[in-house]
Amino acid sequence: MLLRHTPKEIKERKALTVNPAKTCQPIGAMYAALGIHNCLPHSHGSQGCCAYHRSTLTRHYKEPVMAGTSSFTEGASVFGGQANLLQAIDNIFTVYEPDVIAVHTTCLSETIGDDIPQIARKAGQEGKIPKGKYVIHANTPSYVGTHVTGFGTMTKAMVDYFAESEGTRLDQINIIPGFVEPSDMEEIKRIAAELGIKVVMFPDTSDVLNRPQTGRFDMFPKGGVTIDALRSSGRSKGTIGLGRLASGPAARALDSKCKVHCELLDLPIGLTGTDNFIDAMRKMAGVSVPESINIERGRMIDIITDMHQYFYGKKVGLVGDPDQLISLAEILVSIDMWPIYVVTGTQGKKFETRIKEITKCVPHEVKVVSGGDMFLFHQWIKNEPVDLMMGNTYLKYISRDEDIPFIRFGFPILDRVGHSYFPTVGYRGGMRLMEKILDALLDRKDRDSPEETFELVL
Ligand code: SF4
Repeated sequence: MLLRHTPKEIKERKALTVNPAKTCQPIGAMYAALGIHNCLPHSHGSQGCCAYHRSTLTRHYKEPVMAGTSSFTEGASVFGGQANLLQAIDNIFTVYEPDVIAVHTTCLSETIGDDIPQIARKAGQEGKIPKGKYVIHANTPSYVGTHVTGFGTMTKAMVDYFAESEGTRLDQINIIPGFVEPSDMEEIKRIAAELGIKVVMFPDTSDVLNRPQTGRFDMFPKGGVTIDALRSSGRSKGTIGLGRLASGPAARALDSKCKVHCELLDLPIGLTGTDNFIDAMRKMAGVSVPESINIERGRMIDIITDMHQYFYGKKVGLVGDPDQLISLAEILVSIDMWPIYVVTGTQGKKFETRIKEITKCVPHEVKVVSGGDMFLFHQWIKNEPVDLMMGNTYLKYISRDEDIPFIRFGFPILDRVGHSYFPTVGYRGGMRLMEKILDALLDRKDRDSPEETFELVL
C-alpha cells in the first residue's frame, strides 16, 4: 500500500502537493452548469481534461454526465481555440439542441488567453447561435482555485447572463444552495415548500443527477433551473446564499446588478446551521415556521440526546471543502466531539480563522490548514491518531493503513452509492449524519470489545 511509506516526521514543504485535498475548477463549473435545465456544459480545452471532469462527476453521481469539448490538439494549443469553439457551438446546437451551452475554460485555454465572450459574439454574428439559445461562460483556470471556486464562478455567470431587474418585485426568494448533493437541493426545496415559500434555486441538480430509472435515456433530464426562473431572480425579494465560498460570488453579483438583498449563511448542516437557514427564510419571506418543521427539529434534538454519551470527547479528523468543513466542525463541536485536524485543499486564511473560532472550546490543540494536502493530514494522524475521520473517498487509504473508522462525506465519493439520494442538510439530513457517526463509532467498539463487554443492548 503506497501510503504505508508516509513518514511520521513532518518537514516543511513549499512547492509540492502530495495527495491533494481538492479537484480541479472545471469540475465544479461543469456540476453547476448541469443545474440549468436543457444545458450542455462545454469544456474549452483538450479532450483529456473533459474526460477527467466527466468521469469524476459520473463516478460520484452514478449518472451519465454529458458535456462537449473543444478538443484542442497541437494547432489550437499554439494558435488558440477560436476555430474549435466556433465549430463546437455550431455542432452542439445543430445536433443536440440544448437551450444553453455553458463554456468553462481549462488550464490550457487560460494560458493561451482565449477570450470566450469575443468568440461567443463571433458565433452569434456568424449565425451559429439560434434565436432564443445562449452561450454563457466562466473562466476556470485550475492552477488557481478548486472545484468549489469553479462552481461559484459558473453560478455567478448565471446571474451575469440572465438575471433581470425590470418589472415589479415578485413574491419569491432566491436560494443558492452551494456545492451540495442533488438530494440536499431537493431537501432545501422541500423545507422551503413546508414554509410555504416560493423559491428560485440555482443551480439545481436535483432530478438531473439523482433522476429515477425510467429505462429511457434523456440527454436533458427534467430537472434544472429554467432560463425564465433565472431571469426572474433579479426581481425576487432577496437571496439566501448557502456556503460563503461557493454561493457568495453569485449572491453578491445579484445584489449589485439587480439590487436584490443577499444573506450569506453557512450550509444548513446540523442544528444551528438549519436553525439559521430557516430563520433567515422566515424573515425574508415574512412567514411563520409551521409545526411540521418544529417536529423535525424536536426529533433531531431527541436523537442527539440519545446518542450524546457515545459522541462525547471523540477526536475527529476532517478533510474536505471549506463550506462543508465549517458546518461539519460546528455540528461536531455542538455534540462534544473534537475536530482536531481540519484540512482543505482550497486556499483561504478566513477559513482557518473561522475554524479556529468554532473550535476554541475544544480541549486539544486544533490543527487547521487551507491549501493543504492529505499527506500532511496523514502525518498528523501518525503523530496522534483520531477516533474518526470524515472526508472524501481518498481518505480510505489512510483509514485502512491506520485502522481508523471513516465516514465518507463531501466530494468526490467514488466507491459508495446513496449520497446523491439521501440529504445531509436540514434536520432530517442532520439525523442521518448523526446515525452515520454513531454507527461508525459503535461498529468499531463492537469489533474491539472483549467477549465480557460485548453488549447486546447499549
Ligand atoms: S489540465 Fe487543468 S483543467 Fe485540465 S484536468 Fe488538469 S487541472 Fe483540470
